[in-house]
Amino acid sequence: MKNDLNSACLYVVATPIGNIEDISARAIETLKQVVLIAAEDTRHSQRLCQHYGINTPMISLHEHNEESRVAQIAAKLDANESIALISDAGTPLISDPGFKLVRALREQGYKVSPVPGPSAIITALSVAGLPTDSFSFFGFLPAKSSSRKQRYLELGNRTETMVFYESSHRIAASLQDALETLGNRHAVVARELTKTFETILDAPLIELVDILEQDHNQSKGEFVLMISGVDKKANNASIDSERLLKELLKELPPNKASKIVSNFTGISKKEIYQIALDLKESSL
Ligand code: SAM
Repeated sequence: MKNDLNSACLYVVATPIGNIEDISARAIETLKQVVLIAAEDTRHSQRLCQHYGINTPMISLHEHNEESRVAQIAAKLDANESIALISDAGTPLISDPGFKLVRALREQGYKVSPVPGPSAIITALSVAGLPTDSFSFFGFLPAKSSSRKQRYLELGNRTETMVFYESSHRIAASLQDALETLGNRHAVVARELTKTFETILDAPLIELVDILEQDHNQSKGEFVLMISGVDKKANNASIDSERLLKELLKELPPNKASKIVSNFTGISKKEIYQIALDLKESSL
């Protein structure tokens, strides 16, 4: 194992999001070697520990007791004993407990080190086929439809891929709300990743709404919802580039008018300049 556990540390350890085999050798070794595992739900994590022969004692660490655990965990680190933090699934702190603990320990100068592994966000993006050069993660969407629509509206101008966690109770309504507020964007619904009923649905929102209406099994399980960012170039290009250009050409020379339209629409200046020359020629 690369890390020696002599200098005490809080290890933040990722665990599987479905398939129990999706855990690194270093994660298993770390969970065996630390003196204590702080787990979101000790009963839930018992299954993983039994499967891998991990006999380390566990304490619970969840949103209701996280702050009170800080002193207890700091005392172990002071005694040069390392601890691991795990959540029910995936990477701790990612829509899971641990943020307050990690921040408090770091502020107090303790060592915190990651043992990386699965997270539903990255797992979903890796198979979605949506642009990943830039994306934003927004966690869980609001439970109430009116607040959810408001959230979608706030994000309507985002150009990057948007990633959300969504529950089985709300996925169908959430897709409908997205359709009503964002229009018929391309979206991907990643369900039950790495599990028996893994399904990746990849279609315009209107089709996804229809699929979930027809087949109620598609609303069961755990979901990552990914929605394409707005295509400003296509929108702006179709709306008003030529009209804007014509108006500007009444006042400005073609190169200046083209520069403004290019900045406004995102279409290349060369392309706009050619249109400007054609317009000038046809008006002669
Ligand atoms: N910490 C976790 C991670 O790193 O992905 C996320 C925890 S959050 C409380 C749980 C949510 O993650 C689920 O409601 C679902 O939206 C998403 N999720 C977790 N596992 C998933 C899976 N196997 N397939 C699809 N979504 C999953």
